[in-house]
Amino acid sequence: LKDAVQWYRSTPECRPLAGGTDLMVMLHAGTFRPRPRPRAILDVWSIPELKGVRRTQGMLEIGAAESYTGIIRSRDAQEHVPALVAAARTIGAAQIQNRGTLGGNLANASPAGDTLPVLLAYDAVVVSDRRSIPIDQFFTGYRKTALQPDELIVAVRIPLGRRVVFRKVGTRAAQAISKVVMAVSRSPARAAIGSVAEVPLRAARAEAALARHDDAGAVNALADDIRPIDDVRSTASYRRAVAQNILRELLDALPRS
Ligand SMILES: Cc1cc2nc3c(=O)[nH]c(=O)nc-3n(C[C@H](O)[C@H](O)[C@H](O)COP(=O)(O)OP(=O)(O)OC[C@H]3O[C@@H](n4cnc5c(N)ncnc54)[C@H](O)[C@@H]3O)c2cc1C
Repeated sequence: LKDAVQWYRSTPECRPLAGGTDLMVMLHAGTFRPRPRPRAILDVWSIPELKGVRRTQGMLEIGAAESYTGIIRSRDAQEHVPALVAAARTIGAAQIQNRGTLGGNLANASPAGDTLPVLLAYDAVVVSDRRSIPIDQFFTGYRKTALQPDELIVAVRIPLGRRVVFRKVGTRAAQAISKVVMAVSRSPARAAIGSVAEVPLRAARAEAALARHDDAGAVNALADDIRPIDDVRSTASYRRAVAQNILRELLDALPRS
């Protein structure tokens, strides 16, 4: 890891490659977000410090290059972050789950990234080679993050003891990009949503209503928290209706404490 960090810092226009399930698509298509075509690739897939799921300091720590399959199979992840396991199960199909990583989903920063609302609902912390970034400060704009150009994600830390539920709606149950993806917690009040704005976001008005135990108010308020658009996958009005339906459904699944 030390060598990789050093190499990344000293090599201009370099991009890390983890599972490659986003980056290889970009390399083939010639479309590079959020930065231009790289002149060098740093393969981080096999760096041992970036692998594994472990408990540390009252948190669950997941290595940035741990695959979705590794997360799905981890006993600790199943026990402590079942909503993240549920999200990992919906990503692509087996091949993508074997290669895709949490670090890649974060750095790619797609508004439709399926783990991102879950990480927001858990108040995860993104640990890089130089600092810790609270997840609600990580997404700074469309496909933009708080990462510096030479900053490597090392791990994600998730506080223990929170009940979060997850739901994704796509064109079909598997191999689908989200039209709406959501993760919700009652305590603390969190309603995090993807595919309804330029960034994965926390629905502030809905969360305020949830904190007052006003479920109906939260569902109504959600309409003002999101900024869905019409695109190839769906329409703004469909996304708005589905987002409110999912929030209602997830709240019904979460017992009041
Ligand atoms: C067929 C298919 C289906 C898919 N289905 C889904 C889906 O259902 N849901 C979903 O959310 N996504 C989906 N994806 C997108 C992709 O699989 C995920 O975003 C995945 O998490 C990317 O991880 P990766 O390790 O493959 O990233 P890579 O492709 O290796 O990298 C992605 C980006 O992250 C950067 N990066 C990687 N690791 C680090 C690091 N440690 N530090 C800093 N930057 C880093 C890379 O430089 C690159 O910019 C799909 C992709 C394909 C091809």
